[in-house]
Amino acid sequence: MPIYEYVCDDCGERYERIVMNQHTAITCPKCSSAKHTIQLSVFAAPANGSKSSNSSSAASGGGCCGGACGCSSN
Ligand SMILES: [Zn+2]
Repeated sequence: MPIYEYVCDDCGERYERIVMNQHTAITCPKCSSAKHTIQLSVFAAPANGSKSSNSSSAASGGGCCGGACGCSSN
């Protein structure tokens, strides 16, 4: 089930809600306002950063110094 992050339009409180279906009522835990903005970018940013760093480190470590070329003994 998807978890969405919201920002309250009235007080600016950030909160997360698990949305079961389209009829789930989303209200602010601080001021109980039903006016909010859904934040989607919070999930995309950390996933892209870890993915690019993992692939670059794997490529540099697995190419030459795995033992086949003998560069570590030189
Ligand atoms: Zn609020």
